[in-house]
Amino acid sequence: MIPYGRQDISTDDIEAVVEVLNSDFLTQGQKVPAFEEAVAKASGAAHAVAVNSATSALHIACMALGVGPGDRVWTSPITFVASANSALYCGAEVDFVDVDARSYNMCPKALEAKLQQAEASDQLPKVVIPVHLCGQSCDMEAIGKLALRYGFKVIEDASHAIGGAYQDQPVGSGRYSDITVFSFHPVKIVTTAEGGVAVTNDAALAQKMGLARSHGVTRDPDLMVGESDGPWYYQQVDLGYNYRMTELQAALGLSQMTRLEEFVSRRHVLAKRYNMLLADLPLILPWQHPETYSGLHLYVVQVDDRTCDLSRRQVFEALRAAGIGVNVHYIPVHTQPYYRDLRPQGYDPLPNAMGYYSRAISLPMFPTMTEEQQDQVVSALTQILN
Ligand SMILES: *Cc1c(COP(=O)(O)O)cnc(C)c1O
Repeated sequence: MIPYGRQDISTDDIEAVVEVLNSDFLTQGQKVPAFEEAVAKASGAAHAVAVNSATSALHIACMALGVGPGDRVWTSPITFVASANSALYCGAEVDFVDVDARSYNMCPKALEAKLQQAEASDQLPKVVIPVHLCGQSCDMEAIGKLALRYGFKVIEDASHAIGGAYQDQPVGSGRYSDITVFSFHPVKIVTTAEGGVAVTNDAALAQKMGLARSHGVTRDPDLMVGESDGPWYYQQVDLGYNYRMTELQAALGLSQMTRLEEFVSRRHVLAKRYNMLLADLPLILPWQHPETYSGLHLYVVQVDDRTCDLSRRQVFEALRAAGIGVNVHYIPVHTQPYYRDLRPQGYDPLPNAMGYYSRAISLPMFPTMTEEQQDQVVSALTQILN
């Protein structure tokens, strides 16, 4: 089976991890700060906070922005459940904004229409979490303008998008948002086995996220209430979690980050090749906004129901039977039983998200994929669709 995604671990990566195993610190040493610096540098942000997953990063981002019971958080329905769950952890209510039919990212027009309605009924969101699906940035300028007009904060879920750019700035530089989150799960662009990083240009938000990652405990006298008792002293000033990343993970990530550009450009080579080889099939191929350079975590095609006699399910099953490890990203979050139960009156209709979901298939794409493997995917698809 050719998997849809796979990590690329070098001997340098392995040596970096072994070096940590032989060192004094398996956690809370110098590798985590070094990894944070590498991610901040690559994403053009001033501060980075590394944690044990992007889910945790989304959670501490919501906490730092003060999300709590009674607040509303809006995200895209076409995402992994974690984007929405992070707001539920804080006791907020979640709602969804439809996606754009071409980019599959949160649609600024749909967002604006929903904001107008929400303003009229005094139900504006506190935070909006756009998701850079497949690695392509959302239209952040439009979302940023709405954030100023309607007074909400923005967390970019850039789990797919490290190494990507928007308006010639790296994703994460935060021109139109407050916090950006990256995932380092093995199927993502760069891996730490499990891991996530939240980046921001706001020192106060970085400080809050730093506390939330480790029990709300600080050893910094400047953050304490009153005087320190002495050099042994620490203080809990907030309620946090143990979301720390280990030194092993950070060392792997630090080593992987040296190949970030290589990983993303290899994905671009493969995507271009797919674009060329699949052009004549009854498929809708990924569309690229001219102002974005995608991190290209995923290559999603849609089975074009206007020109194709087969259903998405038939194409999907035939590909799996041919040893092609295709997948679907994602099942719209608002259709999950848990989310349906949260809102018995139902969510607003999300026609673009549902249409996309009915047609989408993620084809295998990962940096170590060979042209032969890619040709195998293409020939299987060609045979099935002809
Ligand atoms: C992978 C992913 C997450 C969660 O990442 P973890 O590091 O596995 O917690 C969140 N959002 C999106 C869009 C993702 O793809």
